[in-house]
Amino acid sequence: MSARVIDGTAVARRVREDVAKGVEQLLAAGGRPPGLATVLIGDDPASEVYVSNKRRLSVAAGMQDLHRHLPGDVDQETAAALIDELAADPAVSGILLQLPTPKHLDSEALIARIPAAKDVDGLTTANAGLLAQGRPGLRPCTPAGVMVLLEEYDVPLSGAEAVVVGRSVLVGKPMAQLLLAKNATVTMAHSRTKDLAEVCRRADVLVVAAGIPGLVGADAVRPGATVIDVGIHRGENGLHGDVEFDSVAEVAGALTPVPGGVGPMTIAMLLANTLTAAKAQQGIGD
Ligand code: NAD
Repeated sequence: MSARVIDGTAVARRVREDVAKGVEQLLAAGGRPPGLATVLIGDDPASEVYVSNKRRLSVAAGMQDLHRHLPGDVDQETAAALIDELAADPAVSGILLQLPTPKHLDSEALIARIPAAKDVDGLTTANAGLLAQGRPGLRPCTPAGVMVLLEEYDVPLSGAEAVVVGRSVLVGKPMAQLLLAKNATVTMAHSRTKDLAEVCRRADVLVVAAGIPGLVGADAVRPGATVIDVGIHRGENGLHGDVEFDSVAEVAGALTPVPGGVGPMTIAMLLANTLTAAKAQQGIGD
């Protein structure tokens, strides 16, 4: 293997430590602890694990756990009323609606009720608009985490060719905009892209978020490129990504593993966003 393996677990730990220090500074400046309201609707086991990790790590960083759980058969009005209650509560710095919600609910309408200032997942139209315009706002956690990894590993972005595979609202689109904001030349590839491997081979920085196990192999990677694998798939023998790790590691310059790459960064950035939101709401800056 020739690629440097990007250690997301270590970088995420450092980010969480910085957040914990920031919380201490907020308290020392007379502020209140940031409060994170995770909202889980129903009993999906994977969502329960994600939410319990978010709660545990927010408490470890000195935040208040303001978790709320609604039954899976809750109606839209009741779920909306909970979001409105959290939106109005000054103890709540950030609201995270765990997705996916049960199918009978309109999750977009629920997200739209989250005030932009408490939208720690960066998913509201207001925060997406601020990102598109290059103005400050809360950024979606997974792409924000990828940017921190690229910075930590000194990956040059200005003038670099970046290719993002996937165009979801959660990952692909904000990822492309964050890379653009750092002056990369960004290409977005998606399910209708012709000759994906050829497009990917342009990349100095290749971010793959397609949700298809092993979609990107060594034939799609320019020698020396930095490859970021956002995909997560639970197989019989553990977690895998969208990138064929073993073959790509022979070609790439640097590569994120799954697990231990982008995944841990997502929660770390959620905590960073929650601290940022709390400081802005309390008028206590850096
Ligand atoms: P999504 O299903 O919403 O979007 C997938 C995107 O991939 C679409 O835009 C589609 O056009 C594109 N795509 C599908 N097939 C393709 C193909 N054959 N070639 C090129 N592009 C193709 O998924 P998402 O929410 O963006 O998530 C993507 C992956 O990232 C999933 O595996 C998900 O589990 C994972 N994920 C990981 C984290 C994390 O914390 N590491 C966070 C969010 C999502």
